[in-house]
Amino acid sequence: MEQAVAIPPTDFRPELLDRRERLLAIARVRPPDEGLSHLLAEVDAALGRIEAGTFGFCETCHDPIEPEYLAREPIARFCIGDLSPAEQRTLEEDLETAARIQKAHLPQVATELAGWEFAFAFEPAGPVGGDCCDVLGHPGGEATFLLGDVSGKGVAAAMLAASLHATIRTLASPGTPVEALVERANRLFRSGSVSRAFATLVCGRVSPDGTLAVCNAGHCPPLLSTGGRIREIDPTGLPIGTFLSTAYGGHALRLSKGDFLVAFTDGLTEARDASGAEYGSERLAATLSGLDRPTARGVVDTCLADLHSFTGGRAPEDDLSILAIRRSA
Ligand SMILES: [Zn+2]
Repeated sequence: MEQAVAIPPTDFRPELLDRRERLLAIARVRPPDEGLSHLLAEVDAALGRIEAGTFGFCETCHDPIEPEYLAREPIARFCIGDLSPAEQRTLEEDLETAARIQKAHLPQVATELAGWEFAFAFEPAGPVGGDCCDVLGHPGGEATFLLGDVSGKGVAAAMLAASLHATIRTLASPGTPVEALVERANRLFRSGSVSRAFATLVCGRVSPDGTLAVCNAGHCPPLLSTGGRIREIDPTGLPIGTFLSTAYGGHALRLSKGDFLVAFTDGLTEARDASGAEYGSERLAATLSGLDRPTARGVVDTCLADLHSFTGGRAPEDDLSILAIRRSA
């Protein structure tokens, strides 16, 4: 997904004023301290930059500072590229930690649950990605699945993706319809989010009787193959984080043995070849309709193979996740 929308500079003012108050409160009860006066000066300088209209621009190259980095550190004066080597090393260490956290959250590569088969692939464009994906089994044979894509890139997007993932894991229970689950996840994401980040999400539930309920929060349409025919599963609501209160609808589907659903992030359909042409959902649909009774793993592997032959092995520009769900009984 594209870069997160930058937070307007004036939105940083309350946070900076709050930091200033806290520093002054400490200064009143502590003997003069060089570190403290330095921080206070940095906060005052940042407030001054908001007034002057130069807030959020790198003092070295004059380009905008990365929004994710600025959201983390509002007193930042330089873009990531113009940080000192020591500061860059600290950021890299954060990224490596975030990558380890993300790996620990990835689902099992292949799962089989009460007449359903699941397969998954994740190819981040950088050390960490803003995608999340999971399949959660419930007692009684139902399973909740999710595939999400948080706006922006890098460590900030990865942290938000991990938080959205944890929220849905916590809320998912067989008694909660997926529409209600997504509505609550939206409220929590919106309430807890520090930046103007949003996320698109496909969240659904499969049951042993072959029903599949799916809610699409502004995500690129998953493709459904029933009896060899491919169709799109349109959005049933806005992306997560757009508004605090948003209602979500859902699709109620019934799948027969061999039918499957493929959800993916736009890293798949918006991938480009050497000439700049997009892979696109039409080519994906054509590839899927050519498959003869594939397994869920076969669906994912075919998508990846066709994508890689299209891009000619070019490095991906965006994170890519694919989740295939097939009725196997
Ligand atoms: Zn710079």
